Amino acid sequence: MSFPSGRHFLQIPGPTNVPDRILRAMARPTIDHRSAEFAGLGLEILEGLQEVFQTKSAIVIFPSSGTGAWEAALVNTLSPGDRVLMCETGHFATLWREMAAKLGLDVLFLPGDWRHGADPDAVETALRDDREGRIKGVAVVHNETSTGAASSIAGIRTAIDRAGHGALLLVDTISSLGSMDYRHDEWGVDVTVAGSQKGLMLPPGLSFNAISAKALRASASARFSKSYWDWEPMVAANRKGFFPYTPATNLLYGLQEALRMLREEGIRNVFDRHSRHAEAARRAVRAWGLDILCLDSSQYSSSLTAVLLPPENNADELRRVILERFNMSLGSGLGRLQGKVFRIGHLGDFNDLMLAGTLSGVEMGLAIAGVPHSPGGVTAALGYLGSERR
Ligand SMILES: *Cc1c(COP(=O)(O)O)cnc(C)c1O
Repeated sequence: MSFPSGRHFLQIPGPTNVPDRILRAMARPTIDHRSAEFAGLGLEILEGLQEVFQTKSAIVIFPSSGTGAWEAALVNTLSPGDRVLMCETGHFATLWREMAAKLGLDVLFLPGDWRHGADPDAVETALRDDREGRIKGVAVVHNETSTGAASSIAGIRTAIDRAGHGALLLVDTISSLGSMDYRHDEWGVDVTVAGSQKGLMLPPGLSFNAISAKALRASASARFSKSYWDWEPMVAANRKGFFPYTPATNLLYGLQEALRMLREEGIRNVFDRHSRHAEAARRAVRAWGLDILCLDSSQYSSSLTAVLLPPENNADELRRVILERFNMSLGSGLGRLQGKVFRIGHLGDFNDLMLAGTLSGVEMGLAIAGVPHSPGGVTAALGYLGSERR
């Protein structure tokens, strides 16, 4: 590609395309973060976020990547040596486990095949076996971005309740919040972890913890050392719309605009749009004759689709060709999936024709890279998008 005219297609599953409205909102001059004007911004955002998390609980915002919010969730609720039950859904669950181990938690990792979501029955069994109540937390990734398999958080909640266990439920929604239905209160989640750069359509740099009353109580006696990540000063300052240290003001402008956009479209419509695009993408993959990595159709992610290539083809080579020829970035295979899968992000600020363009780039790339496939994926997707009632 000589000169990359037109827009770059950023079809990785986060960061996602940042809409012009949000870019413009962030271009405003930074204001005094101790001013009355700032308090108005802070209060509007903190309230708007509750709709997206579907909660009435407190939500805190850190100037950090999502990884920081993982750490905040652990150090605010737990103590060194506590046992935590985690589920091996894929690369991100594995990274969260490594973090927990580094912090000094005792992690019980339920094995998985990286092609399914977390298994509520396995969680229930592990909790029933924990007769001494040593497990203090259950940590699950809602939408495993490395595999495109989503876990049933309602199912995990039911498993914990059936086992009659008091462990806290911690959930990573970094690639699902604002794209897939997620109910912090109804599903009895204690800490929800999220980030700015995926469904919320913002650049990277903000992360979130939604905190149940039970988690807040647990934080009063949690013994991990913490200072920057400490919820308490954050929750206290947030009551009046402020932050205990300099917030990422311009990202908060962007967040204010993102929340307005989600509200204008209607959060249910946003979820429906994502599931419709995901279905169209899967129809394309099937028509190409390639395999969707996620093996359980009830667990398909709405925000991304991971596609398995035949063993003789390298997915990174395919992605290289597509970037070079069509100026489109696709997600790589992560961890043990490197070179074996590529991931199509269809989340955030996205519409039918952007999806059509994305799938066209993939289909042309498959031909150029010599990946055996049947043409017709794009046609299958267009047939679905064009006919189905909205
Ligand atoms: C992107 C992602 C992360 C990592 O977030 P960072 O902002 O890169 O720290 C963690 N978990 C999931 C499920 C993700 O999609």
